[in-house]
Amino acid sequence: MKLSPKLLLRFDDISENMNWKFMDKCELLFDEYNIRPLIGVIPNNQDSQLKSWPSKENFWDKVRSWQKKGWEISMHGYNHIYRSNTHGKDYFGYGGKSEFYGESYDHQCKKIKLGLKKFSDEKIKIRSFFAPNHTYDLNTFKSLDEHKIKYVIDGYGLYPYKKFNLVFIPQLFYNLKILPLGYQSTQIHLNTWSEKDLIQFENFTKRNQKKIICFDDLLNMPLNDKEFLIHNSITKITLKTLRRIRRFFKTNRNFN
Ligand SMILES: [Zn+2]
Repeated sequence: MKLSPKLLLRFDDISENMNWKFMDKCELLFDEYNIRPLIGVIPNNQDSQLKSWPSKENFWDKVRSWQKKGWEISMHGYNHIYRSNTHGKDYFGYGGKSEFYGESYDHQCKKIKLGLKKFSDEKIKIRSFFAPNHTYDLNTFKSLDEHKIKYVIDGYGLYPYKKFNLVFIPQLFYNLKILPLGYQSTQIHLNTWSEKDLIQFENFTKRNQKKIICFDDLLNMPLNDKEFLIHNSITKITLKTLRRIRRFFKTNRNFN
């Protein structure tokens, strides 16, 4: 099956406290180019680093206005507080700190439930989730399924795929990239941007306007097509190996 490459714009770490100057500029750009990104909102942000940003009054009105425009609002963790370190044993093998990995099923369920309640109180519809730092274990997936969240915006592969009764939309790179094939998601951390990064993002978006897809378009994708699964396996093996090698060298360097 031949499909032209597409990219979903996934924004991370969206909460009351963030770089609103850059977010407002992105919103103007998206309005002008008719782009509908996926916005990862932290329902109960307690992350002190993020909290150091200025707070937005009427934050939830803003989120509702994005939803009204057809932007997809996604749940990004619950409070963005890391409680464990996966030491590379998390489901995707990223390693590093985690809000969810290693917690009991009941604890993870409670967090997902509380997050969903906040969104529901604010009249925001949630269909998808992605964990802080890409770190999950099987209980995370079970908890998401239990709470009828069907989509995870993370994972290896060139195309979305179905597993554990969930649909995974692959997220592969830290920087902005469109591969010559496949449907994936990017990750955007505008709180870490400089003015130069903003300009680069604006130019990338304008240049690739036709390849940037919205969440609803992704849902019409055929899933687990045989050819897609082969592409996904090759990508997974390659990227996991590259990450392992990078982690190995990083660890050894730290011992010097
Ligand atoms: Zn995050």
